[in-house]
Amino acid sequence: MPQVIDGKVISACIKEELKERVAVLKETRGMSVCLAVIQVGKDPASTVYVGNKKKACAYIGIDSLSYELPVETTQEELMRLIEELNHKEEVNGILVQLPLPDHIDENAVIRSIDPKKDVDGFHPQNVGALCIGQPGFVSCTPAGIIELLKRSGIEIAGKECVIIGRSNIVGKPMALLLLRENGTVTVTHSRTRNLKEVTRRADILVAAVGRPKMITREYVKEGAVVIDVGIHRNEAGKLCGDVDYEDVAPVCGAITPVPGGVGPMTIAMLMYNCVEAGIAGKVPGTDRKGNCL
Ligand code: NDP
Repeated sequence: MPQVIDGKVISACIKEELKERVAVLKETRGMSVCLAVIQVGKDPASTVYVGNKKKACAYIGIDSLSYELPVETTQEELMRLIEELNHKEEVNGILVQLPLPDHIDENAVIRSIDPKKDVDGFHPQNVGALCIGQPGFVSCTPAGIIELLKRSGIEIAGKECVIIGRSNIVGKPMALLLLRENGTVTVTHSRTRNLKEVTRRADILVAAVGRPKMITREYVKEGAVVIDVGIHRNEAGKLCGDVDYEDVAPVCGAITPVPGGVGPMTIAMLMYNCVEAGIAGKVPGTDRKGNCL
């Protein structure tokens, strides 16, 4: 059977390390870290995500400010709040929970966040920095996948890495991060021809396709590492990923389960980015190197 890459254990470990770091910053320098979380409207899934983020902050010792705005909030009102938070010295990170209501331009909102407080790593300046190998915030889900691989002792350098999906928040930053780790990277998408042939070349296969259990063993080379980013709930309310776990597990070398694989890492890396935002430029010798802890 394959190595099961346990995101619950690894994310818990990262959170413990961060908790310790935040405590030391408080004790030795009187510093605190603060994340402002903005939610527009009452989308139930967003409410759950925001709640989990606030819980993680409380656990680690990060202060959180919560802004729950009505669904009819205008873009101008939202951007005015972001502008205020950009200038508040005590606020280190700003997170706007996506998706936003249709009348608000998400890209304009993301651009209005100070890149130094963009702990989601979505601002074009941070994406550009990642692209040219400079320090900056990295999108949390792909950053979490790199941590999963490293902390599971899986070498990336020189490996054939294939990503299914090219979204701005998962596929593209994933490609850049694997490249930074010296993987040989291929990005596939809905227009890729002979997808199975391409994915069967992968030593490390990342599925971020958004289709429940699409990736069966025909897509996977024997012994490959399979990272499942997808999250879906079936009719019975049970969670599953983009990978058909039961079918793929017997042939692969390592695999992330859903739940308990990539999912918990996203929040852990958000917390990591918050702590980095808190200390950036304030503690000599520390900056955002893009490597965890
Ligand atoms: P998107 O829908 O934005 O992107 C999906 C990508 O998959 C697109 O690039 C699309 O191609 C490609 N695709 C769709 N169908 C096919 C196909 N048949 N063959 C090949 N490629 C295909 O999704 P996200 O990247 O935002 O998310 C992907 C999954 O990860 C979702 O299940 C989402 O819920 C989950 N997710 C999980 C997170 C976590 O914390 N665990 C965080 C973020 C997302 P094209 O560009 O050509 O349309």
